Amino acid sequence: LISLTNVVKKYSVGKQEVIALDHISFEIKPAKMTVVLGPSGSGKSTALNMLGGMDTPTSGTIWADDQEISTFNDGQLTLYRRDHVGFVFQHYNLIPNLTAAENVGIGSQYSRDAMSPAEALASVGLAGRERSFPSELSGGQMQRVAIARAIAKRPRLLLCDEPTGALDSGTGRTVIELLRSIADTTDTAVVVVTHNASIAAAGDATVTLHDGQLQSHVQYQVPVPVGEIDW
Ligand code: ATP
Ligand code: MG
Repeated sequence: LISLTNVVKKYSVGKQEVIALDHISFEIKPAKMTVVLGPSGSGKSTALNMLGGMDTPTSGTIWADDQEISTFNDGQLTLYRRDHVGFVFQHYNLIPNLTAAENVGIGSQYSRDAMSPAEALASVGLAGRERSFPSELSGGQMQRVAIARAIAKRPRLLLCDEPTGALDSGTGRTVIELLRSIADTTDTAVVVVTHNASIAAAGDATVTLHDGQLQSHVQYQVPVPVGEIDW
């Protein structure tokens, strides 16, 4: 379980102060898919960065199981990210001159209990594509490679920032179905940031942000099968 309590994140921009997160509290549960919704600038990516140990809050606490990551120094954050967190980005962020298997290997090179690249690729429906370069794959396939890279180390937390943002709606749907199945079949806590409210229906929980404030936190909703959601 990962819990944020009264998290505040302020940025200084020149002499101005931006409050990106304003006393936010919510929980992320293992084996569940949590959707973080909100318009541009509402603080979604900032919240993801706090969960993923890319940054620490200005005030407030974040517990990731038995670790209080909000007090971690840079070295502790590096190990936390390496051992427990997988990231998926809108634009896949694959390395163009490495094969699919090599890209996946990068995500788990320091993890002892990791899946092999072939196993991770098979788990996202890309068996046999180990030797393909990103330029030989479709957008949906590149995103699957990125997901394989993120889950190969069997992370505690899979953080996805607009994972369908660069995909057409049909392909986006298959990516959400894949993330849904990861939540259903593993202990990984899946977090999906989006501004598409339709995607929230596929999640177990929804956190809605607005201007850095928590507008609502719906927990334990019954997820709608992805095929039944109207996009
Ligand atoms: P989008 O949907 O456009 O990605 P978002 O919900 O992810 O938006 P954030 O990126 O979390 O929003 O930004 C929240 C606020 O914090 C914005 O006002 C943004 O300008 C500000 N902000 C975010 N990161 C920084 C930073 N590193 N330095 C200064 N301000 C920042
Ligand atoms: Mg963002």
